[in-house]
Amino acid sequence: MSMSESASTPATSGPASQEGFSPTQQERDELRRHGILLTSLEELYNWGRSNSVWPLNFGLACCAIEMIAASMARFDIARFGSEVFRPSPRQADLLIVSGTVTKKMAPQVIRLWNQMPEPKYCIAMGACAISGGPFKQGYNVLKGIDRYLPVDIYIPGCPPRPEALLHGLMQLQAQIRGQKLTGPDRPRHLRADTGCAYPVPEFGAHDLEPPANPEVWQAPSLPRSG
Ligand code: SF4
Repeated sequence: MSMSESASTPATSGPASQEGFSPTQQERDELRRHGILLTSLEELYNWGRSNSVWPLNFGLACCAIEMIAASMARFDIARFGSEVFRPSPRQADLLIVSGTVTKKMAPQVIRLWNQMPEPKYCIAMGACAISGGPFKQGYNVLKGIDRYLPVDIYIPGCPPRPEALLHGLMQLQAQIRGQKLTGPDRPRHLRADTGCAYPVPEFGAHDLEPPANPEVWQAPSLPRSG
């Protein structure tokens, strides 16, 4: 049907004529069987981003070995479009923090994050990256990279297996596919009031200064009784 035809065609009853028509997945599948593909700019944009998440070629400790295994033939992260591990943060979308983050290394990790362009995502892979893991009580280990960076996906385990990383990647893809391009819920890279660079901590007299970025992490308050 041409544009002129559609403009002159009177509205008829049925779902396609209703305002704000939003077909269900079942209806879309049915249309697809007839060679009609329904989509929106938002879906197309999110589909493209979610299937080309390129991780930074970067690892910190034992969890990185599992990350490397995920890119090998047996687990084949290429099935999800993420086999292109980039050697430069300028070309990467995804920071997989895979391993123990020592306080000596933390500023470098945040600097790498700052060098990545938006839209970018962060996966905390393994107990160490999430909370310090078995080294949590160590004076030299950061108790979670989320004290400084906005983590999108947490993958527990010590270490998580490659399948767990693939599952985390699929969860990230689902998050990306659900993002709105407009409105108050739009993601960070579409907001003018948020920057993509985060403060890099420095070594103070006793510890990293600041000990956390209050924009992404606040210490939990524990209710005390009595
Ligand atoms: S979570 Fe376990 S396997 Fe991963 S870096 Fe820490 S100690 Fe190593």
